[in-house]
Amino acid sequence: MNDFKGRRAVVLGGSGFLGSHLCERLLRDGASEVISLDNLVTGNERNLVDVAPLGNLRVVVHDVTEPLHLDGPVDCVFNLASPASPSDFAQLPIETLRVGSVGTENGLRLAREKGAVFLQASTSEIYGDPLVHPQREDYWGNVNPVGPRSAYDEAKRYGEALVTAYARMHGLRTRIARIFNTYGPKMRLEDGRLVPAFVAQALRGEDFTVFGDGTQTRSFCYVKDLIDGLVRLALSDVTEPVNLGNPRELSILRVAEAVRNVHGGDGRIAFKPLPRDDPRQRKPDISRARTLLGWEPRVSLEEGLVETFAWFRKVMAPRAPVPRADATRPPSRHEERERRG
Ligand code: NAD
Ligand code: UDP
Repeated sequence: MNDFKGRRAVVLGGSGFLGSHLCERLLRDGASEVISLDNLVTGNERNLVDVAPLGNLRVVVHDVTEPLHLDGPVDCVFNLASPASPSDFAQLPIETLRVGSVGTENGLRLAREKGAVFLQASTSEIYGDPLVHPQREDYWGNVNPVGPRSAYDEAKRYGEALVTAYARMHGLRTRIARIFNTYGPKMRLEDGRLVPAFVAQALRGEDFTVFGDGTQTRSFCYVKDLIDGLVRLALSDVTEPVNLGNPRELSILRVAEAVRNVHGGDGRIAFKPLPRDDPRQRKPDISRARTLLGWEPRVSLEEGLVETFAWFRKVMAPRAPVPRADATRPPSRHEERERRG
């Protein structure tokens, strides 16, 4: 595959944050049809409302832990179905393990039946609380198998093993993207992850909730860059895992400062307890993506935050007030006639 023109793609988790941006990109690239399968557990059909007019989009509400049957050819299956925010997977640990195991295998079976490429959305979480910094793909990670993050981390590690087994045993064309923290429009207000939390707090005039002392680090990638990386990976022949993320590493306190600067408010910090097993540091080594995919992020955190603020402003805008009975308004013709008798 050189591009998606005339191709038919399936996106598992297409109504979520990344999934909806991926559907948009595939349609813009000329895909003949994009089919989103999503059970809406953390996604929202509204994310696809502005995507549908771009082309042939089929939106199916389906739990991918149930068998997948689709008629006709499929060129690529993207597996993005999984709760991804720490507060979501903490509330849905069993669902997260099921979708990462049974759901991933159903996606792999579909790709095998159709002779399609299968792309797995894996995560930097497979490195756990990393002892190697920055993280390269040959690092095996430091994951607590029985901690509060284990349902997600181990499901994703199992997912990579399963994808590798399908490639080895069935000759399936597989791709593994290890995605680092990504943010942007279409994240939920109540998502719980850092950027939507800080942006919503800034807009509400609330303090920024910083967990721990805020010296832990992350590296934030804007969604448009990330999606470009996924598309390049799907179109490549790279079967080993590839880190996709922005290598600009910042402490959480510095992220608060960046959000404050973009918003212009005075946003104070409210320190909260650090969740257990919260990784201390995270930064991708993206040499492999640079060399094999010619990919690197282009959007700065400041530029990405401007776009994210614009989205959240829209979502938080008060709806037009419904006129109340006692509101002052000119009398209707009917009322005028009644008054005149
Ligand atoms: P999200 O929660 O917005 O999207 C996940 C989507 O999967 C949702 O629409 C949800 O309803 C759907 N889903 C979950 N279980 C399902 C099931 N059983 N059947 C069908 N659909 C199901 O999260 P996101 O940030 O868009 O993440 C998308 C993918 O990318 C996930 O697999 C996640 O692990 C991976 N990822 C994301 C990030 C990031 O920073 N955004 C980082 C690393 C990995
Ligand atoms: N965090 C924070 N305040 C919040 C949300 C998150 O300080 O309101 C911290 C969290 O403890 C972690 C970092 O920000 O150290 C990134 O958290 P996020 O949930 O976005 O993703 P993670 O990298 O932990 O999966």
